[in-house]
Amino acid sequence: MNSPLLEVKNLKKTFPVRTGFFLRQTGEVKAVDDVSFVIHPGETLGLVGESGCGKSTLGRSIIRLYEPDSGEVKFQGEDFLAHAGARLRQARRNMQMIFQDPAAALNPRMTVGQILAEPYKVHRLIGSGERQTKVRQLLSTVGLQSSDVNRYPHEFSGGQKQRICIARTLALEPRLIVADEPVSALDVSIQAQILNLLKDLQEKFRLTYLFISHDLSVIAHVCDRVAVMYLGKIVELATRDELFANPKHPYTKALIQAIPRIGDGKLVIKKSLSGEVPSPLAPPKGCAFHPRCPQKMDRCSRDIPILAAAPGIPNEHQCSCWLLDKEVPK
Ligand code: SF4
Repeated sequence: MNSPLLEVKNLKKTFPVRTGFFLRQTGEVKAVDDVSFVIHPGETLGLVGESGCGKSTLGRSIIRLYEPDSGEVKFQGEDFLAHAGARLRQARRNMQMIFQDPAAALNPRMTVGQILAEPYKVHRLIGSGERQTKVRQLLSTVGLQSSDVNRYPHEFSGGQKQRICIARTLALEPRLIVADEPVSALDVSIQAQILNLLKDLQEKFRLTYLFISHDLSVIAHVCDRVAVMYLGKIVELATRDELFANPKHPYTKALIQAIPRIGDGKLVIKKSLSGEVPSPLAPPKGCAFHPRCPQKMDRCSRDIPILAAAPGIPNEHQCSCWLLDKEVPK
């Protein structure tokens, strides 16, 4: 296997909670809590979990839209967190992000041509004549017309707006794209088109994706490996096929069970998880999943399980659950 393109080690990001007239800090939210993983070139790693589990914060912390509190982010072997000024700007060209809401991500006062030319201007890459050619090429790459350059974002559908966002992301020829719920704001009929476009672009430009979604069926469609997040931590990490065939963590099992299926000609949605995600302001002691876990044991409310290789399982499969201790061959 190639060296990783991205290495994330023990990454942490907290947000202060301020209350009262003087906005004194009265607590903190551990949005990303000691997260480690790698992504290899050309791979898609899916990051899945319920809303508020920290997956978007993790994506933003990796490309430093939020500054992490501690930990390491290595990109192409270099310490990305150590970069500053011009070096950081240059390194950022290789790591771009697609946001959930394409309407909010596009400036309504700029034409599509201006939006797509902006990255070239900001990074002072090419002159205005060449910019126009590049902009037209970008539009064609994402399935839009070159005549769209003079139109404004409000003249496009949601799916077309996301295509414009993807085109802007491609302008700087990045190697890694963090796609944060790129289809969840779109109609179901459009979602597959955007997912297929992302797959085609990956092949064409050998892109690497960190693909964030709350929807496990979307993750199953596009990802090579999957990391499951719960309250700021990765609780299971495996190849896609291994995760769906042999889930180990009770939370992963519940998410898989909850995927809607057609049975006897009817849509079957199995509700397999009770309760809400606990507040990250006051996370439960021990395993954070224990208040909702159908298999919890005494030690689960006391000791925090560590993400480690699942015993007796081929391939790279890690899980943080005390049940695995029982599976260790004696
Ligand atoms: Fe459930 Fe305990 Fe495993 Fe947590 S460690 S997922 S509470 S069995």
